[in-house]
Amino acid sequence: MKRLFLSPLCCLLLLCLGCGTRGASRSLFHMDTFLKLDCYGTNAEAALDACQAEIVRLEALFSATLEGSDISRLNRASGEAVEVDADTAQLLRRAREMSILTGGAFHPAVGSLVDAWGFLTDAPAVPAEAKLQKLLPLPSAQAIQIDGTRITLDSAARLDLGGIAKGYCSERLCNIAREYGIESALFTLGGNVEAVGSRPDGSPWRVGVRDPEDAEGIVGVIELVDRAAVTSGGYQRYFEQDGTRYHHILDPETGYPANSGLRSVTVIAESGTDADALSTAFFVLGMDAAVALMRSAALDCDAVFILSDGSIRCTEDARFTANAGKDCRTISNS
Ligand code: ADP
Ligand code: MG
Repeated sequence: MKRLFLSPLCCLLLLCLGCGTRGASRSLFHMDTFLKLDCYGTNAEAALDACQAEIVRLEALFSATLEGSDISRLNRASGEAVEVDADTAQLLRRAREMSILTGGAFHPAVGSLVDAWGFLTDAPAVPAEAKLQKLLPLPSAQAIQIDGTRITLDSAARLDLGGIAKGYCSERLCNIAREYGIESALFTLGGNVEAVGSRPDGSPWRVGVRDPEDAEGIVGVIELVDRAAVTSGGYQRYFEQDGTRYHHILDPETGYPANSGLRSVTVIAESGTDADALSTAFFVLGMDAAVALMRSAALDCDAVFILSDGSIRCTEDARFTANAGKDCRTISNS
């Protein structure tokens, strides 16, 4: 029995919305996930109209499955240069940087592996070992050549920006909200949350970190002001075959779902794009290598790790409070 499971609720759960101030809220489904947009201030409705239009526009550019998207066109270009939207070029630039920074743990050319596993189809299945080995090693980030908005992708490379596109989108939504004069907003795109300012009453936004073992529960709360918190977890999307669970975050070195001793990792950073790419990379790397990278590259981010045994480790400035009774320890990120 194979079953692709998509958590119906986001893994970062919004706990309390401010009340009293004029606000607007929308629930949508895009980018294969549930979205919630909350905006406060006099321009809230107009800001949300602009945000909704931007989500539709970015999805049409970044999707690996929509016919005619920039990413689909690049994947079919057989090594020919393709003219893309300025946002696609910018996202590819950031994706390439993050891939280099993380030693390829975050890998934008993971598309051939995602296809082999059928993760974007209704019938994912474990591919034959020989099929996977043929795809490895994946073409490096250098397979993406960027000259302004003219992109050339090596013919063997297949892009999949599922590990970074939602973060780029939430960052854009925050910028749009700010352009509309909004000082308080929260954008939730599946496991990605990004905040403009704080709640309307001035207190920090509070987002719950989903308990990987309990779809309804949380293990603790992160306080967020003008930052993004992005979770990657093996429990979010997976299928089962012959009693084994296979999740959607792939180790680009082995071609198999990452197995690094984590149930989930949440990255908190100023940029939603960085937080998204890093959460995927950290999930692949595991906690020790992730913390080593945070220190060696002096990354301006924090993280909350949920280990295989359910215990929690968070970095000093994560502003995370675990539920009572949880085994949660703090680690230094410098
Ligand atoms: P989600 O998309 O569920 O929020 P992630 O941000 O961790 O979670 O992204 C996982 C998605 O990214 C996968 O569905 C796939 O499209 C893509 N992906 C899988 N493995 C990698 C990887 N090692 N590097 C970059 N992208 C990946
Ligand atoms: Mg990610």
